[in-house]
Amino acid sequence: MSPFLLGERTMKALLLLVFAMVVMAREATAQDAPKDAQCVRERAAMVETIRAYARSAASALGQQGLSESVLEAMEQTKRHLFVPEQSCSIAYADRPMPIGLGQTISQPYIVALMTQLVEVAPDHVVLEVGTGSGYQAAVLAHLARKVCTIEIIPQLAETAAKTLRDLAYDNVSVKLGDGYDGWPECGPFDAIVVTAALGQPPPPLIEQLKVGGRLVMPVGPGYTTQQLTVVEKIAPDKTTTRAVALVRFVPFTRSQN
Ligand code: SAH
Repeated sequence: MSPFLLGERTMKALLLLVFAMVVMAREATAQDAPKDAQCVRERAAMVETIRAYARSAASALGQQGLSESVLEAMEQTKRHLFVPEQSCSIAYADRPMPIGLGQTISQPYIVALMTQLVEVAPDHVVLEVGTGSGYQAAVLAHLARKVCTIEIIPQLAETAAKTLRDLAYDNVSVKLGDGYDGWPECGPFDAIVVTAALGQPPPPLIEQLKVGGRLVMPVGPGYTTQQLTVVEKIAPDKTTTRAVALVRFVPFTRSQN
């Protein structure tokens, strides 16, 4: 056997080995597809549903509808990682969903609507009362400089904080407590979103809102329908209020102490 033939065989064997390694590596990548690559199609479809719904519900949003920046934030936020049900089609359906302990994550359209109505800008500090899964806080975090969010149920606060930490939402702080009193150390706030229903906006929240800022919350009794309400602070002691849509949220609860 000439040295040349030996070389050719070795080359063939080497080529086969490289080919096998490439195939194995591609299979491994497909199996361990990073979570980032999951549900992309369903998430895009959800955004299209929201866009279409917003057009048909123009009265709640006024002429301008949903802004591209809000739709982009919805496209960037991986809802399937905030809900117990991680199936893509269920996680991205435009429906509210139970998150345990009697609480629910809002319908994506309502999350987009509330985000639009508070008019978040990139330099804003935003307060959310009712962290729940952490999803609304994450959507806000794509648009604001800082998001402070308060949750009254310890298990939910803990899980949401972990989810947000794991997903590197470094501009979100989660606090356990009764959000009625707001979070003065985190404020004052350019925008406030309350995601649980109460008869009136809590005065401490209006106090911690900057002049020119907006508070959006469901006003009315819990579990039935409420008016999604926008409160705008137009002067230190003056607000305007408008109701924009009928919604259904879980009740705002108060701590016992
Ligand atoms: N925004 C959430 C869903 C909110 S459900 C999300 O994106 O998943 C409403 C949440 O408000 C519940 O988790 C409930 O425990 C919480 N909540 C009710 N009363 C509260 C209060 N006084 N302070 C803080 N959180 C409260």
